[in-house]
Amino acid sequence: MNIEKLLCDSKKEIKDALELININGKGIVFITKEDRKLCGIITDGDIRRALLKGASLNDCVADYMNEDYTYADNREKIEEVLERINYAAKIVPVINNQGKVERYYEFRNDIYIPVSQPQLRNNELKYLTDALVSTWISSTGKYILEFESEFSKYCDTKYGVAVSNGTAALHLALVVLGIGKGDEVIVPDITFAATINAVLYTGATPVIVDVEKDSWCIDSYEILKALTKRTKAIIPVHLYGQPCDMESIMHIAREHHLFVIEDCAEAHGATYAGKKVGSFGDIGCFSFFGNKVITTGEGGMCVTNCADLQNKMKLYRDHGMSKTYKYYHEVIGFNYRMTNMQAAIGVAQLEKIEEILNERKRLEEDYRRIFGNELNIQWQADSLANRQRIVWLVSALVPSNDRDLLIKTLKKRNIDARPFFIPLSQMKIYEKYTFSNKNSKVISKKGINLPTIATMECEDIETIKDVFLILCRKESEYQKNEV
Ligand SMILES: *Cc1c(COP(=O)(O)O)cnc(C)c1O
Repeated sequence: MNIEKLLCDSKKEIKDALELININGKGIVFITKEDRKLCGIITDGDIRRALLKGASLNDCVADYMNEDYTYADNREKIEEVLERINYAAKIVPVINNQGKVERYYEFRNDIYIPVSQPQLRNNELKYLTDALVSTWISSTGKYILEFESEFSKYCDTKYGVAVSNGTAALHLALVVLGIGKGDEVIVPDITFAATINAVLYTGATPVIVDVEKDSWCIDSYEILKALTKRTKAIIPVHLYGQPCDMESIMHIAREHHLFVIEDCAEAHGATYAGKKVGSFGDIGCFSFFGNKVITTGEGGMCVTNCADLQNKMKLYRDHGMSKTYKYYHEVIGFNYRMTNMQAAIGVAQLEKIEEILNERKRLEEDYRRIFGNELNIQWQADSLANRQRIVWLVSALVPSNDRDLLIKTLKKRNIDARPFFIPLSQMKIYEKYTFSNKNSKVISKKGINLPTIATMECEDIETIKDVFLILCRKESEYQKNEV
């Protein structure tokens, strides 16, 4: 909110202060002398008490203001300000070194803003109830088929195989492509660990390569450099909604006869050259965990254009059991099935996926507008050639020495923010598989995911900006503040 609506000149009457409070809706005004110099505050409660004691609406506001009040200096660290905050002081004026009011902090202790939150208020309960009432609650039932067919269509692919989670989808894909011991599979250094774990489950050797500076996704030059006679597959991960450079990756794959398994767990609906992610490689793998673009609680899906791969995935998903000869097991399979109840939620979620994506996009636009450009942060890249990303979590890079403090400070204000994934190469159990990791180390240390939930309001984003303003101003201001 514009600070002007919170400022009341000390020569004004109580009535003027009440009018301002009525307009700003914050229950408080800051009393200032000439040149915006702060000299007191008055709340609607203070005015009520004054009137009850016989004050008149035309009395001078300065006679009733609080001269002992909580304020912040704009050179202070936000933690120091937080130390002084209590339930009585939720709106705190911020002054500069001349004592003039510059802005204010608003502390709201009664709210909690998570990083993400599923939206389940449409047909989810209706379809779930239908699945329940039908008694088809396990892995047979109409919602499974409908979800597979609708979701694969959404991904510009012919077939969908619903599975129990995104990790199972990746493992299943690797298995049906025949990946195993002695094979090498190239993965990016920045991803959720499930990508590399799925490779390790098969007995194959993962090869970790660096990411691109601008997209944060796997770098195709690094893929080329990491190729060996044993390389069998690449798993590009469309990280934080950003598509990988699929043209280069598919070119390398064709030249070197490699399989491509796209990890699309964070990029439902993103496109490359107008085509959906998941439709480029041999198999695209999705997750429907609670924090993904659409959710089924737990769940995943493999999409493909190859009928043979589809059949193999269905076989392995269901204990390797023959589809025609009951209890005859053709291969050593898994139980990777999705339930009809999960699929029922998935169908309802898919109905509104465009709405969900638009809402997230709008939220990201709000962040960028409200944050303006006074901050030393770099938002996720928008206009990379051919790539149309989606907003999974609003993501940005901030100075690395501020990142963890930002997250800690936001947490104190009941706002959940997350650091980027730690590069695989930086973890003991994976480091031996590292091929290259120059950019990933830098990006990961600076990266932050901000709350991306539908119910957020501009005020919440302003609260987040307040914390950023203190901790990551642009260099020039930074130095000014240090001295
Ligand atoms: C979430 C995620 C997965 C795993 O999905 P689950 O459904 O949690 O098993 C795999 N890869 C990436 C990149 C993810 O973000």
